Amino acid sequence: MIPTLQDLPFENKRVLVRVDFNVPVKGGVVGDDTRIRAALPTLRELLDGGATVVCMSHLGRPKGPQDDARMGPVADRLSELLGREVRYLACDGPGSREQQAFVGEAPDNSITLLENTRFDAREKKNDPELAAVLAGYAELYVNDAFGAAHRAHASTEGVARLLESAAGRLMERELEVLGRLVESPERPFKVILGGAKVSDKIGVIENLLGSIDELFVGGAMAYTFFKARGGEIGDSLVEDEKLDVARELIARAEEAGVELHLPSDSVCAAEVEAGAETSVHPSDRIPAGLKGLDAGPDAIASWKEALQGAKTVFWNGPLGVFEVEPFDEGTRAIAKAVAELDAFTVVGGGDSVAAINATGLDDRIDHISTGGGASLEFLEGSELPGVEALRR
Ligand code: ADP
Ligand code: MG
Repeated sequence: MIPTLQDLPFENKRVLVRVDFNVPVKGGVVGDDTRIRAALPTLRELLDGGATVVCMSHLGRPKGPQDDARMGPVADRLSELLGREVRYLACDGPGSREQQAFVGEAPDNSITLLENTRFDAREKKNDPELAAVLAGYAELYVNDAFGAAHRAHASTEGVARLLESAAGRLMERELEVLGRLVESPERPFKVILGGAKVSDKIGVIENLLGSIDELFVGGAMAYTFFKARGGEIGDSLVEDEKLDVARELIARAEEAGVELHLPSDSVCAAEVEAGAETSVHPSDRIPAGLKGLDAGPDAIASWKEALQGAKTVFWNGPLGVFEVEPFDEGTRAIAKAVAELDAFTVVGGGDSVAAINATGLDDRIDHISTGGGASLEFLEGSELPGVEALRR
């Protein structure tokens, strides 16, 4: 079993908490703070229950200590959200002598945020010495960083092997919801996949085919399927080396009795440009020189219709180039349709979550997964090293 906070005797103990505070920071200020808010229940429960909290996260992809990747702005925002002081020391990274002294001085029932774990190259190598230094900061360990659980790093996997550990509330909820999708979804179960690449989502399709009723494939991915069926897709994005895989998935869906929906028409333009001149074409007859950049009006109408009656919906990946108007319309329309369904709805993936947030419909979705890559790997049926290390 995976222990959670109620299995961990944390009162008056020092608890090291791995969170996912990998948030956008610009000019020293945190932009979207969704991930920080998502960790608050765990941090509050620990602090209210008398623990002394030392939390840590990576931020971006720094190559060693780097001023623009410091955790200072994150500590500031966390302090605002918690309404209490968050101790933070800018330093060279985890395990530095200054950091060890700073953590050693932490008063009882305080909260400290460590410097960016990726300032130390040993983090990504899951170095046992670094894990041991981190483990020395506390008596117990909590992992609430579902978004980083698919990586075996010192702060996720390594340290969990050294201390009595548990999953935090966010991690617990992610495992419960995604576990339900894999093991016992209420049917009809309809899955919508979009985004850039077929290759990112093959594993998910293969693993879920046995338990879903209808599969909707949109976004750039759809054109690889259209081309595999002999369609003309103009200059749309395509993965030519995945045409065979697409053919096989089409056949396997048919065998499994899963209805496959592709967008019947596409909004096309010569280039991805805001306000570009657009035209609508059947998705398997796109003229040369044009790219399919969004689901067309017929596709949207028929998908909305086909989604009715679903009891469970999982959606990953935008259905068009939603970052550029007017190619956001298909994604917005389907976001609205999903939000209005009387079904258990789950959205995962960095860009799809951004798209749902942009429509303001996020509070009408039952679960928004904070872990893009991690949620996909989980749905592929892969074991997540950060989760497995918690198992008792
Ligand atoms: P997520 O982060 O939700 O898992 P992906 O990263 O797989 O999603 O894909 C998101 C990207 O796919 C976005 O940048 C979007 O612009 C792009 N995309 C979607 N549809 C198309 C399309 N028809 N042509 C080109 N790019 C597309
Ligand atoms: Mg993405």
